[in-house]
Formats: sequence, C-alpha cells, structure tokens
Amino acid sequence: MEELSVDYVVIGSGPAGQKAAIQASKLGKSVLVIEKEEVPGGASLNSGTIPSKSLREAILDLTDFYKRSFYGQSNDCCKKISINDLNFRLNKILEEMRSALLRQFEKNGIRLITGAARFENPHHLLVLDASHKPKFRVSFASCLIATGSKPRNPIHVPFDKQRVLDSTRLLSIDHVPDTMMVLGGGIIGCEYASFFAALGTEVTVVDKRDRLLPLLDQEIGMHLQKALNALGLKVIGNQQPASIERLSDKVKVTFKDGTVLETEMLLYALGREANVEALQIEKIGVALNEQGFIPVNDLFQTAMPHVYAAGDVIGGPSLASTSMEQGRLAARHAFGAPTHHFPTFYPIGIYTIPEISSCGYTEDQLKSLDFRYEIGRAYYYEIAKNQMIGNDPGMFKILFHAETLEILGVHIIGRAATELIHIGQVAMSFNAKIDYFIDQVFNYPTFAEGYRIAALNGMNKVKHKK
Ligand SMILES: Cc1cc2nc3c(=O)[nH]c(=O)nc-3n(C[C@H](O)[C@H](O)[C@H](O)COP(=O)(O)OP(=O)(O)OC[C@H]3O[C@@H](n4cnc5c(N)ncnc54)[C@H](O)[C@@H]3O)c2cc1C
Repeated sequence: MEELSVDYVVIGSGPAGQKAAIQASKLGKSVLVIEKEEVPGGASLNSGTIPSKSLREAILDLTDFYKRSFYGQSNDCCKKISINDLNFRLNKILEEMRSALLRQFEKNGIRLITGAARFENPHHLLVLDASHKPKFRVSFASCLIATGSKPRNPIHVPFDKQRVLDSTRLLSIDHVPDTMMVLGGGIIGCEYASFFAALGTEVTVVDKRDRLLPLLDQEIGMHLQKALNALGLKVIGNQQPASIERLSDKVKVTFKDGTVLETEMLLYALGREANVEALQIEKIGVALNEQGFIPVNDLFQTAMPHVYAAGDVIGGPSLASTSMEQGRLAARHAFGAPTHHFPTFYPIGIYTIPEISSCGYTEDQLKSLDFRYEIGRAYYYEIAKNQMIGNDPGMFKILFHAETLEILGVHIIGRAATELIHIGQVAMSFNAKIDYFIDQVFNYPTFAEGYRIAALNGMNKVKHKK
C-alpha cells in the first residue's frame, strides 16, 4: 500500500470537488482528488446536468422545435429521431468535457486517483480498489467530502435498463418509447418528461401533490403546466404508486386508490440520496442528519472542523451551480483565505421545455412576510425577438417593493430564461429598483427587453395607485 501525504484531499470529482481542488491548488496547497468511478466528473458530468442538458439541446435542434411555430408540427419528423442520433451528440460533448476537466486538473498540479475513499481516523483515509483492497493510505491536513448523491432506488421497485428507470439508467435506453410515465413532478422528473414529450412520446407525470414543482412561484408553475399540456403532456396529481410490476413489454403501475395504468417505460424520479455509505464517517465522529445528509455549518465544516462537506452530500439545493460555489468557499475557509457566506439569493434554473429560472422571493413568500409588493409582467408574445426566432409561450414576472421599488424577485419562464435571470440577479445584488430597467437602454431586439416591458407594466400600476 502506497503512503501519500497532502495538504488537501478531496473525495469526489463532481462540481463541488473540482472547484474546491482548483481553489486549494491556487492557494498553493498540495491537492489530491479521489474518485471511485473510472471517469471523473461526478453525477453532473456523467449522469446528471451535462447529459440531460445536452440531450435537451439535441432534442430541440433535431426536432426543429422552435420552427414548429412557423411551419407547424410534423409528428413524422419527431419519430425519426433515434436514440443513436441523440447519443452521438451526447458522447461527443461528454468526451470533450471529460478531457477539459483532466486538463484543468493537470494544469493546476492536482493529482487524481481512482478508488473508493474511506476514513481510517480524522487525519487518514484509505483508498480501496475495485476488489475493496486498500491501495493508498493518505494523510491530510484538511479534507472535503464531495461525494454527491445518487437516485433513490427503493428495493420494491424492479429497476432495469430498459423499462423501469431512474435518471441514470435512462441514459442507456435503446429507443424512444411511445409512452412514458414519470413518477415525481420535481425538477428531474419534469425536465425529462418535457424532453420526451417534445420527441413525440405520450408522457404522463404522476405526483402526490396537486401541482408540479411547488418550489416555483405559483403563477409561473401554472404557466409551465399550460405549456406542458400544449406539448401533449398529461399530469395526474394527488396520486401515489402502491406497486410497480415489470410485464414482458410494459410496466404496470397500481396506485394507492386502486387505479392501474400501463406504460412502455417508467421513469422513477422520487428523490436522491447522499453517497455516504462507503465513507465510514462515524470513524471521525461525524453523524448523518435525519435525511441522511452530512450536517455542516455555514462555512461547510462538519462536526470535525478540518473536515468539510459540500455539494449534494449536504442536501439541498442540490445543484451543480451551488455545489461549485460551496466547494470553492469551503476550500478558501480551510486555508484561511478571505471568504464570504453562501449568498442568500442564487438563481434556480429548471431546463424543462420551456425553461424556467428564478431568483429571490416568490409571490407567496412575500404575502406570508406581509411585504407591500407590486408585480410587473411581460409576456413573450410582446417581445419582438421571440416572434423572430420561434414563438415561445413565456413570461417575465418581476416582484418589487410597492414603496421603495426595490426588486424582490425575478421569475422567468420561456426561451433563454436560465441566461436572462442573471440580469435580474445582478440588479438584485446591487439593490436595484425596478425603474432601473426603464431608465437604461437595452439592445433591441433581444429577449432582455422583457425586463423593460415588465418594469413599465409594474411602474404603471404603482403610478395609478398614487
Ligand atoms: C438528471 C439530473 C439533471 C441535473 N441537472 C442540473 C442542472 O441542469 N443544473 C444544475 O445546476 N444541477 C443539475 N443537477 C444536479 C447536479 O448534477 C448535482 O447537484 C451535482 O452533480 C452535485 O455535485 P457534487 O460535486 O456534490 O456531486 P457529484 O456530481 O454527484 O459527484 C460526486 C462524486 O463523488 C464520487 N464518490 C462518491 N463516493 C465516493 C467515495 N467513497 N470515494 C471516492 N469517490 C466517491 C462519485 O463517484 C461522484 O463522481 C442535475 C442532476 C441530475 C441527476
């Protein structure tokens, strides 16, 4: 067994681990990343963010999705898109991104070793090979646990790689199904549901709540539901599965109220759980919280202050974007570099078709806080750019304080929402008032014009109330 000694050891090469490792290396520390999979990059690169968003782009492109509003929809064109067409593009992207990651590690002098990390004591880790034999013993000054999460796979669900799928298994299907049922109306469920609906699959989303994505501002959620219905997607609320059976060519789902539905493929998207079982963190005096995640303080320290944890392994928001920043902040704190707390407001991007992004308060939150707020709205049909490149049923909703005019929340659904949100995010970070968007010149025609239209709409309401 080889002995290694480093300043900083990072367990996991996903977004949290990558950014922490690079930050520590920039601070002049010796850094080792341990990754149990042969390919680095974590769920983000190999089974989550990048594959799903690459598929989304491929589907929009290959189905000429945005051209449908000009030339109508041809179902024949949808059917012709095969999994091979989609995978060809996906594999090219993944190869490029994996080699970019390895180049980054190399450039920063970060050593990457393959194996499963396990704590021996608060300053030593063992790295095990595929047959569970220790191949390295690593001593470290500080450590980051960035082992991420995996789809929840309850024992009674008969998962395979063809019909009963989770978000990882879905990436190995060999054809586009005619029918698909998605259990779970959260982000992952809704994203994939909309992708397959755009491909022409008959998709049904089933959720125990009566609305999809309850984290959304309610109005935006309703807008999404309408857009998904227009894609042919069916939503069944207030329903929970009691049993899932794999038949020869179908999946049979029996619900708690006795309803039985059959589908060609089933995507089980009911939650994710932290990758912690192999770590033996009890050996360093760290216990999991009730949800099975690693508890940390605001600086990402675990109960053992020189051992940090970041990313999905600490629980929500469970995004690649937030994981990266958590990892970077954790590494800065570990080595005494000036740092700040994780921002209160950060954007959430949901890549359904149409996409959604929001930053700040929702209308329901403002009501419960008793804020005096006003709303500025702009609809995509009012935006010239939207007419030019393919009509999208989107909207901007800006919430602002009715007296101070300070922007309190920005919610966008529609094309480019995940990019556009950053304008609102920056404005909010600098405590901008809604009239900022009226008093500045914006490029025309652009989607960003929506901010101006929404601001004018909101300011008109304020003026009329005076
Ligand atoms: C389908 C899907 C779509 C998503 N889309 C988006 C999106 O659009 N935008 C967004 O921001 N986020 C998205 N996410 C979420 C995002 O992928 C995760 O939040 C992010 O990957 C978490 O990063 P992480 O570094 O914490 O962990 P991960 O990316 O999960 O990486 C953890 C790594 O640790 C390794 N590991 C685990 N245990 C050990 C061990 N004992 N020893 C060594 N290595 C170990 C794992 O093999 C893995 O490589 C999506 C997720 C899914 C599933």
